[in-house]
Amino acid sequence: METRNNPNPSSGDDAEIVSRRIQRLSLHLNPIPCPLPDADRQIGMAACARAKLEVDTGKLSGYMRGPHRDVQEKVFEYFESRPELQTPLEISKNDHRELCWRQLVGLVREAGIKPFRYVADDPAKYFAILEAVGSVDMSLGIKMGVQYSLWGGSVINLGTQKHKDKYFDGIDNLYYPGCFAMTELHHGSNVQALQTAATFDPITDEFIINTPNDGAIKWWIGNAAVHGKFATVFARLMLPTHDSKAVSDMGVHAFIVPIRHLETHETLPGIEIHDCGQKVGLNGVDNGALRFNSVRIPRDNLLNRFGDVSRDGKYSSSLPTVNKRFAATLGELVGGRVGLAYSSVAVLKLAGTIAIRYSLLRQQFGPPRKPEVSILDYQSHQHKLMPMLASTYAFHFATSYLVEKYAEMKRTHDEQLVGDVHALSAGLKAYVTSYTARSLNVCRESCGGHGYAAVNRFGTLRNDHDIFQTFEGDNTVLLQQVAGDLLKRYQEKFQGGPLTVTWNYLRESMNSYLSQPNPVTARWESEDHLRDPKFQLDAFRYRTSRLLQSVAVRLRKHTKTLGGFGAWNRCLNHLLTLAESHIETVILAKFIEAVQNCPDPSARSALKLVCDLYALNRIWNDIGTYRNVDYVAPNKAKAIHKLAEYLSFQVRNIARELVDAFDLPDNVTKAPIAMQSEAYSQYTNYVGF
Ligand SMILES: Cc1cc2nc3c(=O)[nH]c(=O)nc-3n(C[C@H](O)[C@H](O)[C@H](O)COP(=O)(O)OP(=O)(O)OC[C@H]3O[C@@H](n4cnc5c(N)ncnc54)[C@H](O)[C@@H]3O)c2cc1C
Repeated sequence: METRNNPNPSSGDDAEIVSRRIQRLSLHLNPIPCPLPDADRQIGMAACARAKLEVDTGKLSGYMRGPHRDVQEKVFEYFESRPELQTPLEISKNDHRELCWRQLVGLVREAGIKPFRYVADDPAKYFAILEAVGSVDMSLGIKMGVQYSLWGGSVINLGTQKHKDKYFDGIDNLYYPGCFAMTELHHGSNVQALQTAATFDPITDEFIINTPNDGAIKWWIGNAAVHGKFATVFARLMLPTHDSKAVSDMGVHAFIVPIRHLETHETLPGIEIHDCGQKVGLNGVDNGALRFNSVRIPRDNLLNRFGDVSRDGKYSSSLPTVNKRFAATLGELVGGRVGLAYSSVAVLKLAGTIAIRYSLLRQQFGPPRKPEVSILDYQSHQHKLMPMLASTYAFHFATSYLVEKYAEMKRTHDEQLVGDVHALSAGLKAYVTSYTARSLNVCRESCGGHGYAAVNRFGTLRNDHDIFQTFEGDNTVLLQQVAGDLLKRYQEKFQGGPLTVTWNYLRESMNSYLSQPNPVTARWESEDHLRDPKFQLDAFRYRTSRLLQSVAVRLRKHTKTLGGFGAWNRCLNHLLTLAESHIETVILAKFIEAVQNCPDPSARSALKLVCDLYALNRIWNDIGTYRNVDYVAPNKAKAIHKLAEYLSFQVRNIARELVDAFDLPDNVTKAPIAMQSEAYSQYTNYVGF
């Protein structure tokens, strides 16, 4: 209250201010006493007596850092050296679009960072660039993704050598800015029902691209409203039948359609382009709508890797059915999802760092006649932020694994890996982006009023990231793909089919996890047992296996009366829970592996602590499920809860080191409330005192 009434706190005695600051800083540098009341100390008592973990941030950071830090630093250095390319807080939609384009051109042509070559050859490097670029401005990350991953990726992944030869350099250097035109006004998730038509004209050897009705207008297309010169258009391939009186629908294929003149930038004849207008976020990206009125393109513009048309109008494909061709086409586009999952973790790191650094500094209330305490010392605040920090670490390792598997899949084209990466990218993209979207609200709220100042970034992060939940596949739809995949593998298990690495726990599941829970282990509640990775992983796997088995039984039962579609819908929530449970199981398994593989003992101890918090917090959140089947006895449930709270407190004591290990450079300090010291003076400077 005193400070509140004092209009100029800096006018006090300097020595007193310095001593108060030192006192405050010492509060978050030193661990505070164990918060557990005496009666609760059976759990964690030994650990409670332990001093704060010593964490070597450099070593931890070195372990977390991918192999492509150099190129990320180049990105940061470039934008730091070009202040005129930094996005100001207040900017109109049109100016933001132009700035975003100049940022991308600067990155590619001036800084010489050319992401396109890595899309196919070194995806991990491509995603590292994407992460760095996205933290400069998320619109720039998405603009880059549209150009290289969507437009460029469709050309190199769905086309053949002739397309690479013709388009690679133009895409690479940004002389051929392009779009990925899949979504239509009436069809977003249901891509197989797209209506845009590409009819082959055997006389002129061309395809005629047509929008048959308003519902088929291509909508939300990135790069279309202003900058795009080409579009990969997804359309139904129509071939005249032998008597030329009718056409056969060969299903959805991809075609390169020029939309603006290369030199004049005029919209080409037969094409109508409209602007999708101001959006909730990502206004640096120019989303537009496209209509085609009998636009003619050469036959060569069909991206013909999975299906081709000969000069005389004959269709050929190495894949026997429309469904198989469609699956192969979409399968080549999973890179976008991998990128979104990976970038979403970067957003979570950024928001968590800002919120945690601020919460360490901010003080409100305290014991009578004692200094006020840091808000992160409140149990409720730890409960909001520490499990989130643990999840961020967990997601970091899971998405790094995904990137690794994706790169391996691109290298080997191994069929099993293709299926694995498809389901894993769908699941992680859905799970991580939904989690980050929820967490951005928590971070804003945990910084109180200052979290609401635009300069502190939560507003932009939240608005820009929100759509990650929808594009590149709506999360609810993607989770259903994961559930579908699990059911398929469950059936294969009974037929003795192979199970790939990510799924092989299902093989054991039927034998051990689904037997009745062991009444003896259900009562074990020692700290050692609860922190044993075997107990934690078993608990996750048990839950997934039960969900899988029970939903399979329910589906079988309902299919008899409701048919396949109706039965699926009747069990939909169950299926979504199953998919999330499976993804959490994969995430935990990868986290445990990362802890075990960490070579530095101090970094390993810190990771182990964080991993235990992740696991026990998740088990506690689902404790009803475990109690219902007596997987854990009542006292064990209580012990899990207490230990999770205690671990949260332990993680709080090393929270600063844990966020420092994310190694986020100046882009974090752009938020004045996240400054590590002298936060308030930075903040007051910002508002002009
Ligand atoms: C900013 C932005 C940029 C975009 N960029 C591009 C681009 O460059 N190129 C492009 O082609 N597209 C782009 N899109 C489109 C985007 O990919 C689609 O919006 C997305 O695929 C979802 O489709 P939809 O909007 O039609 O939603 P719908 O499919 O209509 O979904 C609406 C709601 O219904 C639910 N739902 C739908 N089906 C089911 C189901 N089977 N079970 C349960 N629930 C269901 C969903 O969960 C969702 O909540 C962009 C969109 C935006 C907003």
